[in-house]
Amino acid sequence: MSAPFIMTVDVEDWFTSSVDLFAEAAAAGQHGRKPDESVLHNTLRCLELFARNGSKATFFILTTVAEAYPDLIRELERQGHEVGIHAHRHRLVYNLTPQEFEEDLKRALEILHGTGVKNILGFRAPYWSITKKSLWALEILQKHGLKYDASIFPIYRELYGIPDAPTVPHEIRPGFWEFPPATVRCLGVNLPIAGGGYLRMLPFGWLKPLIRRASRSGALVFYLHPYELDPTDAHLPIPLTTLKSRLYYRQQMLGRRGNAAKIEKLLQLAKFQSIAGAFADKLGLPVNVNRA
Ligand SMILES: [Zn+2]
Repeated sequence: MSAPFIMTVDVEDWFTSSVDLFAEAAAAGQHGRKPDESVLHNTLRCLELFARNGSKATFFILTTVAEAYPDLIRELERQGHEVGIHAHRHRLVYNLTPQEFEEDLKRALEILHGTGVKNILGFRAPYWSITKKSLWALEILQKHGLKYDASIFPIYRELYGIPDAPTVPHEIRPGFWEFPPATVRCLGVNLPIAGGGYLRMLPFGWLKPLIRRASRSGALVFYLHPYELDPTDAHLPIPLTTLKSRLYYRQQMLGRRGNAAKIEKLLQLAKFQSIAGAFADKLGLPVNVNRA
């Protein structure tokens, strides 16, 4: 397998990651809440997994986590991983105005710099929500010194995706890169194999040949959420009242029990790297930047 294998982690607790998907939660003003402590323990589990396999990753941080647990961010850097931004409040980018998006980004940058992170290069939008409706966000990211985005999913979903977007890393604006999550082309459509529910629910024996196939065409960017390693992290601080919310809740629990073992098998396929580590030259990093 020749393409670089990239691991990314969106650092957030489970409930905060779903606020916009539970109508009850958004209505109850749950955006920006203090993340559940489970994010701390589950991110440390990710670190153990990666250390055991000699892998490095890019951690995209929801900065309410950095505010509540700043030592966690320092530990990620201490272990040689890359730290990027997920957002401050976990909201759909295309539901924000450019001004609201920029304010959130500035806050996130300020908080991460406050924990001591110096080189912040990358961004991943909550819910992959940079779509054709919100491509304006890329210019704002670049304006604030970021070098890349990793938010455009080249598939179609009701909530996100640009199905005809390039499936391999590419310079989406001059001097600014896009790193899409891994997909494999099948019967004329891109199938997601990169992480989340897709990775949790497919048997590893089915995934492995798909990963091998995808690796022939470009970099393989995988993603993981710390809570996906923890079948018990499903704390609901508010009651769910709609059928849609209850179904979503059930779907979120699927495949979690065996997921840590599956991630371990995935990590054994290759030496995983962070985005900055694998693409330092393309991102124009100075030689003294951590190339983990
Ligand atoms: Zn998220």
